[in-house]
Amino acid sequence: MGFKQYLESLNSYEAGKPIELVVRDYGIYAEDIIKLASNENPLGTSDCVIKAIKKEAKNAFRYPDDSMFELKEALSKKYRVYDKNIIIGAGSDQIIDFIIKAICSKSSKVLISATTFAMYEIYAKHNEASVIRTKSGIHKADEFIDEYKRHNPNLVFLCLPNNPLGDCLDRNEVYRILDSISKDCIVVLDCAYMQFAKYKDKAKLITPNEIIGKYQNVIYLGTFSKLYGLGGLRVGFGIATDSIIATLNKLRPPFNITNVSLKAALAALKDKKFTQETLKNNLKEMAVYEDFARTNNIEYIDSYTNFITFIFSNKVDSTQLSQYLLKNGIIIRNLKSYGMNAIRITIGTKKQNKRVLKYISKYLKR
Ligand SMILES: *Cc1c(COP(=O)(O)O)cnc(C)c1O
Repeated sequence: MGFKQYLESLNSYEAGKPIELVVRDYGIYAEDIIKLASNENPLGTSDCVIKAIKKEAKNAFRYPDDSMFELKEALSKKYRVYDKNIIIGAGSDQIIDFIIKAICSKSSKVLISATTFAMYEIYAKHNEASVIRTKSGIHKADEFIDEYKRHNPNLVFLCLPNNPLGDCLDRNEVYRILDSISKDCIVVLDCAYMQFAKYKDKAKLITPNEIIGKYQNVIYLGTFSKLYGLGGLRVGFGIATDSIIATLNKLRPPFNITNVSLKAALAALKDKKFTQETLKNNLKEMAVYEDFARTNNIEYIDSYTNFITFIFSNKVDSTQLSQYLLKNGIIIRNLKSYGMNAIRITIGTKKQNKRVLKYISKYLKR
């Protein structure tokens, strides 16, 4: 058929297994299933957000405000930038799509870490660009600088912190990379988990107004899917110079965010109690996983996110462990497709984590 050739070898994104499928495949009640596979907020959706959604529901017949004035105004206050420095996407995923579309074609090169968010490569391939990876999965400033010099890419992605490993460069390391990159190369700082990193260690904090003031070739990305608990409503944002934002806006389809999503994001920004509770639970429960890993001689990566990655020796197979957990109603992410004998677990509630660790422990003792 008339499809583009590159699509033949392209794999589609493998999302976390939805609860509905586990109900069907394993006959487990939905209430008994724990999903810690997609880094969603374990505290759920905040009550303020649910209220805002209900209130906006009656406007479902209307097209949303395509200028997204209210949400941009709230974000511009929070990040101390102008609204012309902000673009809103259907998840920050959509903004990654816009950026790569705006820059990449067949002769382009995109530099990413060896193990990082899968969408960078998928969107690069949509545009037939080649992908260059650093040697280490974990971000290392020297590797990014060396590979940049060697390949002269058109676009660089830094995932801060890095999904699916959890590592995060210090701010001064990020600055060191940016200082080595020419201004005609766009650098994307994907900060989907930045609030978790900042909560744990201030040295990780990247502030978008400072960064775009200093580096006109940088795009900062944030999302409402993780800390704010709005994964299902698809809202993300990008912050950059007005000229970059104006260019990206040319690729944005009209009404890309629903009016319900816009109101929900606005309410989520205001609910400080919910985000504080989320951050507190995350750090406290992260320590429980770390303790477990140390006790059981499991290698783990110091995480600045809302998930932890366990790396196994060859005595444990991550695929078999994932299957075992699934049969017991626990969905986590197997990292075999990333070439690692490892699993990524989203930090859940105290009760959820207890059950996850109970079953991992059972599996290890078999
Ligand atoms: C979750 C995630 C995103 C974007 O999620 P959206 O739901 O599309 O906003 C972007 N980057 C990374 C690294 C992520 O983990």
